[in-house]
Amino acid sequence: MAITDKIYVKNHRQLSSQLETNIPKGAFKGATLDMLFQGKGLEKLDDATRERVLDFAGDFLDCNCDNNPYCGCPERKFIQYLLELRAQGLGPDAIVDVMSDDYMVYAYSGDVLSFLDNGIRTLEAAEGLARVDGHGEKRDEIRRVKDDLAR
Ligand SMILES: [Zn+2]
Repeated sequence: MAITDKIYVKNHRQLSSQLETNIPKGAFKGATLDMLFQGKGLEKLDDATRERVLDFAGDFLDCNCDNNPYCGCPERKFIQYLLELRAQGLGPDAIVDVMSDDYMVYAYSGDVLSFLDNGIRTLEAAEGLARVDGHGEKRDEIRRVKDDLAR
């Protein structure tokens, strides 16, 4: 399972009851993304919650793919976001705290740790770091190695 399958909506029950609909707990589940993407009923949310939901949609669901939000961009962007937090020197616990503050989502820090430790994903981390540091060539090289591994 990808790390994005282990990202959950915080206060999920409260959010569901505010929206008067049952949304899945997984932040990247289709029905959750649909709700965020279509923005239906978001006016029912309290201000603090709505702001974070809109931030999430704006930061991760903002691509122009025809099959948005099922194009893979949201997951890719979220992984990039995790790697950027990692690149800032944050450990798993701090990464979970920040994602909760930013987007009202959470993960178990053990899952974040495995994500960071995982082989192929370590290369993704390197790719992310290369990007953060502006080493375009290095990033492309790492991406090639990673794509080979992932095949
Ligand atoms: Zn896309």
